[in-house]
Amino acid sequence: MNISDSERIAGFLEAQKLKPAKDIATANLVIFNTCGVRKMAEDRAYGQIHNLWKNNPRAKIVLTGCLANRKDVQENLKDKVALFFPISEFNKFENWIIENSNTTKCDYLHLTPKYSNKFSAHVPIMTGCNNFCSYCVVPYARGREVSRPAEEVLAEIKKIIANGAKEITLLGQNVNSYKSKNYNFAKLLKAVDALPGDFWIRFMTPHPKDMTNALIETITSLEKVCEAVHLPIQSGDDTILEKMNRQYTRTHYLELIEKIKKGFAQNKPGTIFSLSSDIIVGFPGETKAQLEKTASVMRKVKYDMVFFGQFSPRPLTAVWKLKDNVPKTEKVRREKYLNEILSQTALVNNQEYLGKTFLVLVNSEKNSRYFGQTRTLKNVKIETDRKNLIGQFVEVKITRTATWNLEGETYEK
Ligand code: SF4
Repeated sequence: MNISDSERIAGFLEAQKLKPAKDIATANLVIFNTCGVRKMAEDRAYGQIHNLWKNNPRAKIVLTGCLANRKDVQENLKDKVALFFPISEFNKFENWIIENSNTTKCDYLHLTPKYSNKFSAHVPIMTGCNNFCSYCVVPYARGREVSRPAEEVLAEIKKIIANGAKEITLLGQNVNSYKSKNYNFAKLLKAVDALPGDFWIRFMTPHPKDMTNALIETITSLEKVCEAVHLPIQSGDDTILEKMNRQYTRTHYLELIEKIKKGFAQNKPGTIFSLSSDIIVGFPGETKAQLEKTASVMRKVKYDMVFFGQFSPRPLTAVWKLKDNVPKTEKVRREKYLNEILSQTALVNNQEYLGKTFLVLVNSEKNSRYFGQTRTLKNVKIETDRKNLIGQFVEVKITRTATWNLEGETYEK
């Protein structure tokens, strides 16, 4: 989401005829789009702002993202930062830019973003969150849920496709609670899928509580929607889930996974799909027995990927004042333990790819080798004599599999 916001901010600045600086040491204006989900990211932002202020005192510093609304951050950085604006108050930034340079007004949602590349685009369809998971800063940093009108989302996607995009990722903090007039998320997905063109559709991040049967049917059947479902569980233990205010149980989550597996089996028989998740280890009070519940979910689901986070208390959140009583070393051990389970399931899942041919979207080149991703988000190293493949779909026959990546050769029918 922050990448997409940065692309929009860059698009706005470019539309105001501001030019990118050659490097940060000579820039007149530097915008920090911060993440406050983990303490480490927050510390890094402090360090970079301090260095910039010391080394380039002429630069005006603006801070947005998760940290912008925090009173303690504003107090600590008041001498260094010229403007704090949460992304939901983009007009504050716009007015500030207009006052500080001779530019004109615009509308954030109508901005043309400066996409990082032409073949893969992130399109925000909603922002904010109403869920208030007890550990999460997003509802405070971004405010309540606001969905973009479907017509506007579709118009932006049509433009991106006309411009050569091959992969569209629909973004939202809670993407499947999207609601705009008579559109829900399933209807929006169908409308995007119906747009002409040769492109893939991805989305993130859905919440288990909003994963309806109708949505599962849609996700597992639409042709352009990729066979990669990311469904965060956070913990496999019901008491921890309740403390996290996640609003689902382990049983409900596992039922959803079964429905997704059945949906793919029925709607795209024989197609390989991938499942991924987010898990927090070391939530306050998490016992070893509760961690085992999470481990058992992982063994049942057989994820392809899990993004682990070691619990770190965030100001403003409901659990900020709870005792962070799982020591750091134990959090590291728990993450390592779960990561070993993931490594095993990912390795076994990847063996299914061996000898088969998959469409790969090529995204980079290094030392005369190309790299890309399958629809299931598997990283593939590609051997080929062909040239200029970046941003292209190519058929690749998989010749080697490992835990985190695949290797293959371009395949000509
Ligand atoms: S649903 Fe996601 S964004 Fe919303 S509060 Fe929970 S973790 Fe944060």
